[in-house]
Amino acid sequence: MQILTLIMMPFLRHLCLTSFLFMTFQLLNAQSSSAEQDLNTLIQAMLAESPMESDLKELCDQIGGRVTGSEANQLAINWAYEKFSEAEVDAHMDPFEMPSLWLAESTSMLINGAQIPSFKVNAVSKYQTPPGTYKGPLVYVGAGTDLDFEANNDDLSEAFVFVDADICLDINGLFKEYTDAAIAEINARKRNAKGIIFMSSRPNKLLYRFITTKTSDNKLPQFVMAREDAKRCIRLIEEGLSLDVSIECKAQKGETFISENVIAEIKGTTYPEEVIIIGAHIDSWALGTGANDNACNVSMLIDIARQMKKLNIQAKRTIRFALWNGEEQGYFGSWHYTKTHQDQLNNHKMALSVDIGSGDIIGFFTNGRDDLIPFVDQCLASVDNIGNYLNINNPIVGTDNFDFMLEGIPNLVAIHKPATYGLNYHASSDTYDKVDLVALNKNSAIVAALTLNWANADPASLESFKRQNRSEIQSMFEKHQLEFTMRMFNVWEPWINGSRGIK
Ligand SMILES: [Zn+2]
Repeated sequence: MQILTLIMMPFLRHLCLTSFLFMTFQLLNAQSSSAEQDLNTLIQAMLAESPMESDLKELCDQIGGRVTGSEANQLAINWAYEKFSEAEVDAHMDPFEMPSLWLAESTSMLINGAQIPSFKVNAVSKYQTPPGTYKGPLVYVGAGTDLDFEANNDDLSEAFVFVDADICLDINGLFKEYTDAAIAEINARKRNAKGIIFMSSRPNKLLYRFITTKTSDNKLPQFVMAREDAKRCIRLIEEGLSLDVSIECKAQKGETFISENVIAEIKGTTYPEEVIIIGAHIDSWALGTGANDNACNVSMLIDIARQMKKLNIQAKRTIRFALWNGEEQGYFGSWHYTKTHQDQLNNHKMALSVDIGSGDIIGFFTNGRDDLIPFVDQCLASVDNIGNYLNINNPIVGTDNFDFMLEGIPNLVAIHKPATYGLNYHASSDTYDKVDLVALNKNSAIVAALTLNWANADPASLESFKRQNRSEIQSMFEKHQLEFTMRMFNVWEPWINGSRGIK
């Protein structure tokens, strides 16, 4: 027996090693083929009919516009928590403090001229415009550029400066509008203007709500006037008439208050401490019902979680589904998350935001990180039959990827075909009927595939996507000349003074 064993030893060892290798190979193969199978099953489930549309309808039509701090916003938080719970996905509320409450109520605006009868115009207030009664001359300053203001010698301290706007039909128009408005605002502040009235950039009397460069710190009354009304005023001024404006602005204002993100997760099997976080903001402005911005992508994320749970799909890494709140006022919910998860951030392998409506996804912004592009390409290969993707290394400021970017975590923002996003952005017309349901359905498969592939990637593939340090992030900002844009959203100072982002 012993001899036999001794004689047999080398063979046995060989046999064992071979069978060990064989078994390991089988196991790896089984794992990768099961991951492959999960991926295909999930893609098919996302492309099939699902409760995504009815969820979207509920969120838009039954709950409606969801300004952070409003009753509808609280209803939306509870609704989302219930949706995750019904799908048996672990979820929790993540409370955080908002800097102050501001809920618009109404704005009435009257134009008075000595030689003509007074007439009413349609207008809305910008975020944090102090409620009150205002009166003053309307001083037209063209587009509000430095040159426009230099050409004007009036004392503006009692005046409402009146700024026109190019027509905006898509997202490029939106960025231009934000930039132009920021320049006009800086100039108006320098000249101590009493307030600003911007011409709406959209036709057909469409009104929408924007933040100002001071976001929640804004104290300057600022309004958007219907394009047709504004053009009438400009014609009158150009004909030599002097116009005054009387404004009655009502809003509910309050101190700090507690709001909540809703965070759900599906734990990872192999590296549960490593996290892929995908997010969409649940809050909106309330002139419309926040359909393309951003109920469509909230419904998408809930459905990805639901289908994964239903199909019993777990990735190697933990997938978190974040429905951010307080986004419109300055991404307060996602900022809070990065502040309170400092001890986990080294393990956050990717943060994705989906926030540009429901047009077809045509790629992802890699936010200052060229190194991510080949891997994003690779992750999208599983869904190249439903779209064409071009990933672009532009850093996006203005949504919930932002604080992950400041923390040096690989972060993405979905790029969409413009569809109806720009025209209805933050406007009374952003309603359920504007959502491209066919594209949303495809987008859900694209986001699900990207997420699952990232969450299942072997560690070697993610090894090179190190968390960036502060100086790497700063030089990326310099390379992409982001200072003005960050100032425009009031987030440059907090980055520079170290109150926001990696230390
Ligand atoms: Zn949004």
